[in-house]
Amino acid sequence: MDIFNHLGLFFVGVTIAAIGILGFVIFYNNRKSQTHRAFLFFSIITIIWSVFNYLTSQIIKPDIFLWNVRVVMFLATWHAFLFFHLCFVFPSERVLFPRWYKFALLPITVITSFLALTPLLFTLKDISFNSTETVPGPGMLIFLPLVFFSIIGGLLSLLRKRKKAEGLVRKQFQYILLGSSLTFVLLLVFNFILPAFFLQRDFLPFGAMFLFPFIAFTGFAIVKYNLLNIKAITTELFVLILVILNLLQIILSESTSAMIIGLSTFVLVLIFGLSLIRGVLQEVAQRKKIEQIAKDLAEANEHLRELDKEKSEFVSIASHQLRTPLTAISGYASMLLEGSYGKLSKKTEEAVNRIFQSSGRLVLIIEDFLDITKIEQGRMTYQFTTVDMKGLLRGLIEELEPRAREKNMKLVLKINGQGSFNATADFGKIRQVMSNLIDNAIKYSGVGHIDIALLKDSARGRIRVSVHDTGIGISPQTMEKLFQKFSRAEGVKKIYTEGSGLGLYVAQEMVKAHHGRIWAESEGEGKGSTFHVELLAED
Ligand code: ADP
Repeated sequence: MDIFNHLGLFFVGVTIAAIGILGFVIFYNNRKSQTHRAFLFFSIITIIWSVFNYLTSQIIKPDIFLWNVRVVMFLATWHAFLFFHLCFVFPSERVLFPRWYKFALLPITVITSFLALTPLLFTLKDISFNSTETVPGPGMLIFLPLVFFSIIGGLLSLLRKRKKAEGLVRKQFQYILLGSSLTFVLLLVFNFILPAFFLQRDFLPFGAMFLFPFIAFTGFAIVKYNLLNIKAITTELFVLILVILNLLQIILSESTSAMIIGLSTFVLVLIFGLSLIRGVLQEVAQRKKIEQIAKDLAEANEHLRELDKEKSEFVSIASHQLRTPLTAISGYASMLLEGSYGKLSKKTEEAVNRIFQSSGRLVLIIEDFLDITKIEQGRMTYQFTTVDMKGLLRGLIEELEPRAREKNMKLVLKINGQGSFNATADFGKIRQVMSNLIDNAIKYSGVGHIDIALLKDSARGRIRVSVHDTGIGISPQTMEKLFQKFSRAEGVKKIYTEGSGLGLYVAQEMVKAHHGRIWAESEGEGKGSTFHVELLAED
């Protein structure tokens, strides 16, 4: 083999590998699309045709040569057909094939391709003592028009679709047409003008190289708007480089056995390389899927947030509307109890007292609702000042003492340590939090006393209040969800029906805004509970 042949073989090998990789990659990009499939078929037939076409220049034995030419013609028929097929389906995912396609074009192609294998297309003729030549037969009368119409038909179909296409799809057509023109010019120059007019036939075997522009541009057009990611492209390049190195090794091999080994590694490299690319592509597809799911989820979340906002607004408006009449009910009940409208009989007083208590509780629940909507809408404002926790707790205990006494319980304040117990806090909010905790301790205990311990952790700069009761306790299951909205223990609903399960949630949000901490401890049901609140100490 001379250097020209070596180089030629090398380039044909590289283009064949590149076409194979491209066809495979594009097919895996969307296996269900007819365009992608057509591209793969076209790539495969191009490769097989290129190999046989190349062999034509290497075979000397006349009858093998004849058969090789016939196989080339057989493949060329399918090549032309698949070109038409690709142009016909591009760029759709699904195409319905018309009758003429199924019942005329396809059968004629099948017949012609087999005709190419018979003496009707080519025979061998001795032209001199030891030289023979292939001679075309009458089969050419079918073969040539079929190939001609397939190619022209394909191009016309592209042009027609391009006219109708707009925007990005139009650009895709431009790429394909550019690729076909390049391939067409290359084939015209090297496979027709040079051999026909200048008797330069050395380029004839390199069909693969001339077809490459078409394949490359078409492949690019197919995936252009669905670009594969960098990782996939790098893997493809990596495989291609391996293939090139392997080909170099084959070409430079000095013995037949070295060549055989080279060829076997070439096949292996190609198989492993392709499965590697396939893996990467699958990963890319999976990532795309996950990205899509994440996007859907984000949209759903956004929608939920909208709904939540609307709900908050609704609750806010409804609560405001409820509060005014309730304040009036509670106010008048209070005045009735105070005797502003004359003395009440014992029975009436009891009834009015119930009205007063219930409306009072309802006001608290509505306050919680309003607090929640304010927190969720980010409208809750805090005024931080120095709050004397000792004074705050004393005041609260005084206020809640009567409620405890009703249940025969005692509130005991235990102050651990000397000095001031000042916290940086919003007085009203922290009072609400503490009131809620003490109120809960009263609500969820039957007997005994409630210890309210105040402690200063100077080392950490914290003030801690712990409210300990000997009541119903908290089960581990309830503990998990204790500070969530509307969370109430199962049994609690029977003991204390009016609770809303909002108090602790609001308390937690308020303590969070103070950069503090709130948590609960309980050894289990029936074993009492302790609620702790830690705030920043003021020194
Ligand atoms: P509510 O008291 O209106 O139900 P909270 O948010 O204040 O709402 O409390 C939520 C739930 O936490 C209560 O329903 C109860 O199950 C439990 N819980 C709160 N404080 C105590 C406590 N001191 N002892 C036992 N369980 C409690």
